[in-house]
Amino acid sequence: MERGVGARVARHPGRGNPGGILDTMAFPQTRLRRLRATRQLRGLIRETSLEPADLVYPMFVAHGIDRREPIAAMPGIDRLSIAHAVSEAGEALSLGIPAVLLFGLPAAKDEEGSGAWDEEGIVQLATRAIKEAHPELIVITDVCLCEYTSHGHCGVVRSDGTVDNDATLELLSRTAISQARAGADVVAPSDMMDGRVGAIRGALDEDGLCETPILAYSAKFASAFYGPFREAADSAPAFGDRRSYQMDPANGGEALREARLDTEEGADIVMVKPALPYLDLVRQIKDQTGMPVGAYNVSGEYAMVKAAAGAGYLDEQATVLEVLTSIRRAGADIIITYHAKDAARWLR
Ligand SMILES: [Zn+2]
Repeated sequence: MERGVGARVARHPGRGNPGGILDTMAFPQTRLRRLRATRQLRGLIRETSLEPADLVYPMFVAHGIDRREPIAAMPGIDRLSIAHAVSEAGEALSLGIPAVLLFGLPAAKDEEGSGAWDEEGIVQLATRAIKEAHPELIVITDVCLCEYTSHGHCGVVRSDGTVDNDATLELLSRTAISQARAGADVVAPSDMMDGRVGAIRGALDEDGLCETPILAYSAKFASAFYGPFREAADSAPAFGDRRSYQMDPANGGEALREARLDTEEGADIVMVKPALPYLDLVRQIKDQTGMPVGAYNVSGEYAMVKAAAGAGYLDEQATVLEVLTSIRRAGADIIITYHAKDAARWLR
C-alpha cells in the first residue's frame, strides 16, 4: 500500500471516499483496539443488539398431566400441564419475552394425527387458556402432525411407507385453522411439505383468518440436533427417518429456494432450523429475501451448552449470550430458544 495516501486521509478524516481510501490505511494509523478500550466505547460501536424482545420461548404442553415432567436431555425444560403452561407463559411475559411457541402432546395418537386439528386438542386448549390469562402475549402454535401421528411422521403415510405430500396439505390446513380459531396469534408450519405455506394461507383466508401471520420453517434440516426434542415431544418416527422431507444439511442453495418459495406462497416470517450450524444461511436468506427471519436454537444446541456448563467446562451465562448474539449478528430478527427465560434475566 501507499503510506502517503493513508497519512493524507488520516489528516483529513472527513474527506474522500471512506470505503475506498480508508481501507488502505493500516497500522500504525489504524488501531482497532482504540475503540475496545472501555466498556462505554465498546457499547457505543456495538453492531448487534440482543434483547428479551427478540426471543420466543418454546413450551411443551401435555394432555392429562397435572405436574411438571422434567425432560432428561433438556435440564430446566419440562413437559407442562395447561395450568403450568399458563403460569410459565406469564413468567416469560414478565421477563419481557413477547412470544411463546406451543408444542402439544396429545391424549392419544392415530394414523392421521387427528389430535392436531381437534377443537379440544391440547394446543387449542392451552392457547385459549394462555390467551385468556395473558392477552398481550403472542402465542405461536406449531403446525405439524408428528406429535399426533402413531407413526411419528410429519404427514400422511402411504402403504409403502412414503409420506404423501398433497394429502398432508389438507390436514395441515385444518390444523392451522383450528389453532387460529382457538386464538393463536401466529401459526408456524414445521412439516416441510411442498406447498404448505400457500395451502395454509389460502385456507386461513377462506376461513376469515386473513390477519393470522404464518411463520414458516422454510429451511428445516434433517438434523441430529433434534434428539432431545424428540424425547420431549415423544415424536420420534416409528420407522425410517425424515430425510425425504427435511433438508439435506449439505444444501445451502436449496435453502434459499425454499425461503423464496415460502415468501412467494405468503409466509410472513421465514425461519432456519437449527440455528448454529446454519448461520451462513440465516445471513444469506436475510440478505436475499429481505424478510423477517427467525432462527430456531434447537434442543440439541441447548443440551450441549447445558451439559458443558453442568460439567463445569463452560460459563453458561457467557456462552448463552454469545450464542444468541451470534444468531442475531447472522441476521435473525427472532430467535426461538429454550434459553429465553435465563437470557432475559441476564439481559436485565
Ligand atoms: Zn413434524
